[in-house]
Amino acid sequence: MSDGPRHLATRAVHAGNAVDPGTGAIRRPLVTANSYALPDDPSELSWSGTGTPLYTRNGGANQGWLEEKLAALDGGESALALATGVAALHAVFFTLLRTGDHVVCSDVTYAATHQLLTALLPDKYGIETTLVDSADPDAVRAAMRPTTRLVHVETPANPTTKITDVAAVAEVAHAGGALLSVDATFATPVLQRPLELGADLVVHSLTKYVNGHGDAMGGAVIGSAELVERIRLEAGVNAGATISPFNAWLIMRGAVTLPMRMRAHCAGAQVVAEFLAQDPRVAYVAYPGLPDHPQHALAARTLDGGFGGMLAFAVRGDPATQNRFVAALELITSAVSLGHDESLVVHVGTDGPRAAHWPAEFRRWGHLRLSVGLEDPRDLVADIEQALARTLS
Ligand SMILES: *Cc1c(COP(=O)(O)O)cnc(C)c1O
Repeated sequence: MSDGPRHLATRAVHAGNAVDPGTGAIRRPLVTANSYALPDDPSELSWSGTGTPLYTRNGGANQGWLEEKLAALDGGESALALATGVAALHAVFFTLLRTGDHVVCSDVTYAATHQLLTALLPDKYGIETTLVDSADPDAVRAAMRPTTRLVHVETPANPTTKITDVAAVAEVAHAGGALLSVDATFATPVLQRPLELGADLVVHSLTKYVNGHGDAMGGAVIGSAELVERIRLEAGVNAGATISPFNAWLIMRGAVTLPMRMRAHCAGAQVVAEFLAQDPRVAYVAYPGLPDHPQHALAARTLDGGFGGMLAFAVRGDPATQNRFVAALELITSAVSLGHDESLVVHVGTDGPRAAHWPAEFRRWGHLRLSVGLEDPRDLVADIEQALARTLS
């Protein structure tokens, strides 16, 4: 990739963009057509192929340009952009796993990952999954079986911010003959590039930081050309969770500012986390940038230039108090999703099978997942302060 040697911020601006040969415009256009002109003799074409522009489900122009940018950002040979982050996770599992295969997965993950690997794929296709504390590479090693085809980790994990040592787990996976996929949605390629640390595939929800503006859905898988092209054919073309041209165009535009946005998210989250940590009305704070985070040292060693924009905390009180606190926030919006320009908070419940793997304080108090946005952190702290005063004094 010619963009390879350039620095990340430069790649974020330039990769995938070029002068449009049709118009001379210096920005790639939005191409909404769902079909492309066939060659004079189409008899040699594969209708499920992806090499020649043919049909937008097989790969449209905006999807392709976005994929160039995503591959450049993560330092991968190839990228596949899909309709959502969950479509990207499903594409990896659907393509790499078959009946009888075993997966080792982080015990803390996004809800749909947990659902796919512990319920849907086991029930429908006889795939087995062991959940492990992936912050402990020895626990991953102990869970490996001769049938383990895939180790899947999420780091930092949604919602607890648990950190996994990607390089250490890559060694364990490869020693056991398995591939390693990493959901790096929270880290983004700005803070960590798992492929450089030995992972085989990296998955992102583009809906979150990569787009960054809360106005499009998308997902991506990045890795070697051989693996990504298999996933493109089996799960992209033939399962059809294709990203729309408009969403690809929006995400391409959003991704340009990802490096500078991530720096602001990290700086803001550090300020907010430190404020919460010193307030006696706050029961606990989980943020990798705080010294009392269980993997703070690992995060400092393996994340590049910051600890991310996501944190979890609870105020001292019952679930109704958590709800009253959230309702009292005036600047911070209560909504799911994360990584947007505006700060978002969600009161996540404490029950469900997933919560059994959360730390004791999460289960005792419940938790508020906070995505620290790009506002001035002093205004975020002031908003939290006034909501605390109205709820807990
Ligand atoms: C949101 C999220 C996903 C799913 O992405 P969608 O775009 O909502 O499908 C996957 N993994 C993590 C860590 C997420 O936060």
